[in-house]
Formats: sequence, C-alpha cells, structure tokens
Amino acid sequence: MSQTNAQNSTQSQLRPQTETGKRPQTLTIALTKGRILKETLPLLAAADVRPLEDITRSRKLQFETNRDNVRLLVLRGIDVPTYVQYGAADLGIAGKDTLMEYGGDGLYEPIDLKIAKCRLMTAAIKGAPAKTGRIKVATKYVNVAKHYYASRGRQVDVIKLYGAMELAPIMALADEIVDIVDTGNTLRANGLEPREHIADISSRVIVNKASMKMKYRPIGTLLDAVAASV
Ligand code: AMP
Repeated sequence: MSQTNAQNSTQSQLRPQTETGKRPQTLTIALTKGRILKETLPLLAAADVRPLEDITRSRKLQFETNRDNVRLLVLRGIDVPTYVQYGAADLGIAGKDTLMEYGGDGLYEPIDLKIAKCRLMTAAIKGAPAKTGRIKVATKYVNVAKHYYASRGRQVDVIKLYGAMELAPIMALADEIVDIVDTGNTLRANGLEPREHIADISSRVIVNKASMKMKYRPIGTLLDAVAASV
C-alpha cells in the first residue's frame, strides 16, 4: 500500500461515523456490576446484544459483543451516571437509588427495566422510640438522606459510610440509617427494623443527551428492542 493509501485508510478508520456511512455508529453501554448486571444480561440478550465472553466471571472492564457497533463497560453503579453524563458512554444501566444520589440533569432516563427491585428506607434499632430533635443518620446516600429529612422538616447530621450501615445504630454512631431494603433479612439479622419508606427502586436505562441527538437511529432502535424485552 502506498503511503497515501495507508494514510487514507487510517483516516477513514478515524473519521467520525455518520448515519449514512457504511460503518454503523458505535454505541457504548455502561453496565452496573453485581446483582443488576446478572438481571441486565437477559434483557440485553433479548434485544440481541450478547457479550462475546462470560462478563460475570471476567476481570475485564470492557467487552465486545455480537454486534459490531455495541461495546459494554462494567462499572461500579455510582460511576455509571458519570460515564454517561460526560459522554464516555452513550447509554447506561443503573439503580434508581444511584441516580437519585447522583442527581444532575444531564441525562435522559427513558426506560424502567423493572429489575433489581427494592426499597430505599430509613431504619433504626428494633423497638427503639423515635427520637425527637436533631438526629444522626448514617448512609451512603448522603444527598438523598439530606433531601428526605429536610422534606419532612427534620434536623439531621448525615454521616457518610461506604458499607455496613446496619452497624451504625448498634454502635451508637447514628440514630437511624438510610439504606436499600429487599427482604429485610439484613436489617433483622442486625437487630434493626425498617421505619419510613423513601422510594421504590428499580434499574433504569440512562442516555447521554448529546448521544441521543447524534446517534438517534441506533439508540432508538436499541431502546425499542430493550423496552420490548422488559
Ligand atoms: P435484604 O437483606 O434482602 O433486605 O437486602 C439488603 C441488602 O442487599 C442491602 O443492604 C443492599 O446492599 C443489597 N441489595 C438488596 N437489593 C438490592 C438491589 N436491588 N440493588 C442493590 N443492592 C441491593
């Protein structure tokens, strides 16, 4: 190949892909690892998107799929909205709890996948009388907790924890916690009980606003297929 041909070939690989071009526009989907990932894969498969290797066992973070134009990333849930908001991924799948905590208005949230359902609740030591006045609340959902207690007119000091929230009331670090509750077994096993319901949670598809405009056709087709598989 002459140098000019080689340059042209490289340039055509790098050239932005268009809806009318021969190569389809690449879509990057950021997935949430763990429980949500296991429930997401069958929905993607029903929309004909299948990773080329076992994504749940691999330590890799990026995966090719059976579709030339679709690539998957596997991230911690809290990083999914960041990747999508800044356009590093076109689409993402994340729990509503994560999206509520993340906030931000740079994202579309077109589909409720109705998977990984649970509730975001307050909890306290079983049988303990509700404390009046200013209370301490331990949680990883700092923004959600501040907003929730403020909306109830309650004064709180919110303490950020990254895990094992259930231990905080027992060790007198906090009066209450805000956490995800599914069966309630984790609370019970630690002598706590659910108190107030903050929100019903399920996983959602999110889309970068610029991607939605620039890649309208492939994203629309994928969203239709995913919505049909829910
Ligand atoms: P459970 O004992 O069934 O109430 O589950 C409680 C714990 O499981 C929570 O503290 C979460 O860490 C985790 N969990 C349950 N359901 C979900 C979910 N849908 N998404 C993420 N984490 C969950």
